[in-house]
Amino acid sequence: MNKIPETINVISFDLDDTLWPCMQTIMHAEEQLMQWLASRARQLTEAHTIHSLREHRRELARQEPAIAHDLNLLREIQLRQLLQEFDHDPGIAAEAVDYFQEFRNLVEPYPDVIPSLTRLKTDYTLVSVTNGTTELDKTPLKGIFHHSLNARQVGHAKPHPAIFERVVEITGSNPDQILHIGDDPLRDVESARNFGLRTLWLNRHEMPWPDEIERAEIEITSLSELQE
Ligand SMILES: [Mg+2]
Repeated sequence: MNKIPETINVISFDLDDTLWPCMQTIMHAEEQLMQWLASRARQLTEAHTIHSLREHRRELARQEPAIAHDLNLLREIQLRQLLQEFDHDPGIAAEAVDYFQEFRNLVEPYPDVIPSLTRLKTDYTLVSVTNGTTELDKTPLKGIFHHSLNARQVGHAKPHPAIFERVVEITGSNPDQILHIGDDPLRDVESARNFGLRTLWLNRHEMPWPDEIERAEIEITSLSELQE
């Protein structure tokens, strides 16, 4: 059953791996950042790899749970610490994050995305809800969503319900009038359902559903399967 329930008037969308493949974009942005740092912070880039910086950032997030949802702040604090540690100017950390972000915005939506969202936009209020840092206005999806929310703005990352609470507030809809579409069983399906939203699992790579989580109401492998 691929039909959007009749009572739905708002559709919220996860972004990373739901509307575009995410890892290749982040990988490219991190490579660009390393090159940028190589000419400004040689000791740091000689001592670290993309992988070790990720590990270090994960550790920082564990130590600082209050900012773990704010990925660019985490990246900036990390760089400031490491620049200092390797006797470089810690003042370039913010500029480094801005540089990374330019490349983080270079996402390429899956081919079904723009046609489907353009069609849905005329009948539903569309809201994007992401834990990531992509600036939609700088992507090919500029102008498609009525509202866009991210973890930094709401102060928590999914699966925390804060972002769904905010969708309810800004659209004035009841949770059960909102359909949430995402790729992640826990962060999208389970967390949206826990807040009372209807749920759709977009399973683009035909992954097995994890046994310990209740399945989504609707499951599709491409947005073009969705019927109004
Ligand atoms: Mg996702």
